[in-house]
Amino acid sequence: MLVHTNIICSFCIKIASNYSCCSNKVMKNLKDLLLLGDPRLYETSDPIEKSELPLVGAWVADLDNVMQEIRTKYNFGRAIAAPQLGIMKRLVYMNIDHPVVFINPEFTYMSEDKFELWDDCMSFPNLFVKVKRHKKVTIKYINEKWQPQVWEMEDDLSELLQHECDHLDGILSTMRAIDDKSFKWRNMK
Ligand SMILES: [Zn+2]
Repeated sequence: MLVHTNIICSFCIKIASNYSCCSNKVMKNLKDLLLLGDPRLYETSDPIEKSELPLVGAWVADLDNVMQEIRTKYNFGRAIAAPQLGIMKRLVYMNIDHPVVFINPEFTYMSEDKFELWDDCMSFPNLFVKVKRHKKVTIKYINEKWQPQVWEMEDDLSELLQHECDHLDGILSTMRAIDDKSFKWRNMK
């Protein structure tokens, strides 16, 4: 249960959030990150209802905190999906040069054109998996102010959001491996 105060934490300001402040909450950390084999990673997450919007700020603060810890420890991490922290909601948080919150994201277009890449995942940080992703996608979602958004993406962003949205349906990149040799340990040349 969140304790509401008049103090707004720096994260709530950063994402221009009007939500309940997360300053009195114990933040989730790296120990809360679900790892490969955890059955919750294979579950389908629930859509976020508008009435749950006041909770989104605190969920995003947790996602941000864990992503920062991953970056410090493993030197990668551009986005994270809520179910990776056991928050079984259709929420993705991306922070490449600024924070972006995707509530209930859905692809409305996926190009036939695909490309191959070695994918990584915070839930199995030392394992690369070779997958095929659509080159271009259009994603619709709701932002942290409950405003509908549409974003056409290609290449890096396109494959990233395909990876994260797969998490919302309980799909991991291991399940999209191109073949049985499409696995590589991170420190292998
Ligand atoms: Zn992942």
